[in-house]
Amino acid sequence: MSELRYQRCINPDCGATFGVGESHFACPKCGDLLDVCYDWDRLEVPDSLSWFGKRWATRNNPLDFSGVWRFRELLPFCGDEHRVTVGEGQTILQRNDEVAKYVGSNAGRVHLEYEGCNPSGSFKDNGMTAAFSHAMMVGAKHCACASTGNTSASVALYAHACGMKCTVFIGSGRIAFGKLSQALDYGAQTIQIVGDFDDCMRRVKEVCKDLGLYLVNSLNPFRLEGQKTIMYRILEGLGWQVPDWIVVPGGNLGNSSAFGKAFYELKQLGLIDRIPRLAVINATGANTLYDLYEKKGLRFVADRIDGKEVDAYYGRLNETGYRPHTVATAIEISRPVNLTKCLRALAICDGVVREVSDEDIIDAKAVVGRYGLGCEPASAASIAGLKLLRTEGVIGADETVACVLTGHQLKDPKVTVDYHMEKGREFSNKPVEVANDIEQIIRVMKG
Ligand SMILES: *Cc1c(COP(=O)(O)O)cnc(C)c1O
Ligand SMILES: [Zn+2]
Repeated sequence: MSELRYQRCINPDCGATFGVGESHFACPKCGDLLDVCYDWDRLEVPDSLSWFGKRWATRNNPLDFSGVWRFRELLPFCGDEHRVTVGEGQTILQRNDEVAKYVGSNAGRVHLEYEGCNPSGSFKDNGMTAAFSHAMMVGAKHCACASTGNTSASVALYAHACGMKCTVFIGSGRIAFGKLSQALDYGAQTIQIVGDFDDCMRRVKEVCKDLGLYLVNSLNPFRLEGQKTIMYRILEGLGWQVPDWIVVPGGNLGNSSAFGKAFYELKQLGLIDRIPRLAVINATGANTLYDLYEKKGLRFVADRIDGKEVDAYYGRLNETGYRPHTVATAIEISRPVNLTKCLRALAICDGVVREVSDEDIIDAKAVVGRYGLGCEPASAASIAGLKLLRTEGVIGADETVACVLTGHQLKDPKVTVDYHMEKGREFSNKPVEVANDIEQIIRVMKG
C-alpha cells in the first residue's frame, strides 16, 4: 500500500517520491522542488470547514490555540508529538472601508489579513511552525536560512523554542532594523555577507549541503504547508465564504505557491465550491515574476513551465549584473525560488501579476497606517496592487477582496519615519517643533 503522506518532485519527467521522514531541499534525482502530498481518501478530513470552529472551545490545548495547527487535518504530515507551536496564527481579518475607498472599492468589500500579529511579527511563523515540526520529526539539530529579515526573525524564534542551533544569512545593509534586532535578540548566529538575498540563498544551500544542516527557506515544502492556513483563516474570517480575490506581495513566492495549493486541495476535498482569483504583486525594482508572467506570457501548462525561457531571463540578469532594489526589502528578490510553484498557483487561481512603484507602496503603507493597524512596506504592495487592478477594472468595485498584510508596522520604522518627515507626501504627518512654552504650544495645537 502506498504512503498516506509523502514528498513528490514537481517535475513531471521525474516525479520521484520520498518519505516525509526524509529532509531534502531539492529533489535528489533532478534538483527540482518538492511538494508534500497526501492520500486524502485514506486520511480523516472533516466534511465542512465550519467543523474547525469547534476548536475555539478547546483552545487551552496549545495546538487548538495555534492558528496553524487547529487546521492540522489539512496538513497532516506529522503527529502531535512533533508539532511545535509558539502561538502563531492569532491574526485578524479586518474589514476596512477607508482602505476600500482609497483603492476605489465599495464599502464592505476590502479585508486586510494582518499577519503582523504573529509572534515574530510576520506571516513567516505560519511556515516555520510547520518546518520546525518537520525538523523535530527528522531529528535536526542545527538549521539555517537566507533571509531578507523576517525569515531570520522567525527561524531564530522557533529554533530557540525547539532548543535547536540556528544560523541565519543576511545580505549586508539590506535588512530592516526591526528584523535584525529580532535575530540577534533571539540568539541566532547571524552571518552578514557582502551581497543580496540571492547571494545569501546560494551560500546557504551550499552550507546546508556541506554541513548537513536543516534548511528552512521556503524551498522547504513543509513550510508551505503551514502557510496554507493563512487562506483557511481568511475563509474563516469571512464566515467560510470564498472571496473573489486574494492579493499578496510576491518575493520568493512561497506564499502565493502555498495559497494555490490550499485552494486546490480544498476544492478537491469538496470543502469549497469555487477557487478565488489570485493577484501577486511585485515591486517594480524586483519584478521577475511580472516580467515572465505578464510580459513574456510564461505559463504553467501540462504540469510544467518553459525552463529555457527562465534560464534565458536569469542569464540576462547575470550578464547585466542586475541587482533588485526596492524600499520593500522583504520582496527584494530577483530569482524567486518558488517560481514554478507560483506559476502553478496562478494557473489554479486564474491569477494576475502586477508591479507597483516604491512611491505607490509607501503611500499605500501610510493609508494602512492611518486607517488600519499598520504594516511594513512589502505588505503594502498588496494595497498598491489592488488599487492598480481597480483602476484597470480587472478587479470590480463590488468584488470581495482579501489583501494579505504580511508583516508588522514596527519591522521597518525608518521607512515610516522618513515618509512622514518628508513634506509633500500625500499622507505625511510631520512632527511640529515648538519651543518649550505653553502659549506657543497652545497656538500650534489650535492650528
Ligand atoms: C517574506 C515576505 C514576503 C515575501 O513572501 P514570499 O512568500 O517570499 O513571496 C512579503 N512580505 C513580507 C513582510 C515578508 O516577510
Ligand atoms: Zn525530481
